Amino acid sequence: RFPAPAARAGRSRLLVLAGPTAVGKGTVAAHIRDHHPEILLSVSATTRQPRPGEVHGEHYYFVDDAEFDRLIAAGELLEHATVHNKYRYGTPKAPIEAALAEGRTVLLEIDLQGARQVRAAAPDATLVFLLPPSWDELVQRLVGRGTEDAEERARRLRTAKTELASQGEFDYRVVNDEVARAAAEVAALAR
Ligand code: 5GP
Repeated sequence: RFPAPAARAGRSRLLVLAGPTAVGKGTVAAHIRDHHPEILLSVSATTRQPRPGEVHGEHYYFVDDAEFDRLIAAGELLEHATVHNKYRYGTPKAPIEAALAEGRTVLLEIDLQGARQVRAAAPDATLVFLLPPSWDELVQRLVGRGTEDAEERARRLRTAKTELASQGEFDYRVVNDEVARAAAEVAALAR
């Protein structure tokens, strides 16, 4: 189920990076964006508010619920999901199709529900599951970033348990022990 990189044959340049809460998906994806300009990091639409420093069109397209509904109805999203029972996130289809047509690699950093939808819509997509070095390390990272209260942390860790159990659905597993190393391993899968 986890072939060596040489066995990538038949997998497309549509790369999906998923994994449990706090594993560092965003950090690894940002590292790839900064060090691999040949790879297009997809910019998602979301209904959540921007955080300080986040730029519309660069980190996300920040839209309201009505606009999100319109994107779905118009068939403009490759996948979409409500993440952590809160806000909606979705992947715009057109930029991805354009980049793939040019022979570029496209990276999606999305949640597990989204990864499953991409698998269904594009069976030849390359699905990568980002793993923490250990369960304890995942808990440490979630506590350490301090952005969730205890109740929300407990909820996310329950979700993480079920998500970790789904890693067998993925083509590759990469351990996020060190960001630059993990990013290089993910980027190498796209060649
Ligand atoms: P955040 O709000 O912290 O930026 O992202 C929260 C979660 O939403 C992360 O797990 C991220 O992977 C996921 N996410 C971001 N964009 C998308 C998207 O377009 N589709 C899906 N399904 N999940 C997304």
